[in-house]
Amino acid sequence: MARYVPTSVAIREVEVKTGQDVRELGLYVSDCCLQEMRFGKDDSFSRCPRCLRLCEWEPVEAVAAWQEMAASKHDGYERA
Ligand SMILES: [Zn+2]
Repeated sequence: MARYVPTSVAIREVEVKTGQDVRELGLYVSDCCLQEMRFGKDDSFSRCPRCLRLCEWEPVEAVAAWQEMAASKHDGYERA
């Protein structure tokens, strides 16, 4: 499945794994099956809901944020 993730913008320490405590509530997506799950502050990251394996979770909001940033930057270049 194609994912819009440039190699130059590495996902840093925000990536978390099954069993870790949730530090920031929000919407996360599993690395293996791209299943979206919402975790709260008192949760710990679960297994992937689809394949039930240990997985890594990426925060969706963070991805959306830089996409928005890239889009507005591009738009700025176009207009300038
Ligand atoms: Zn999975």
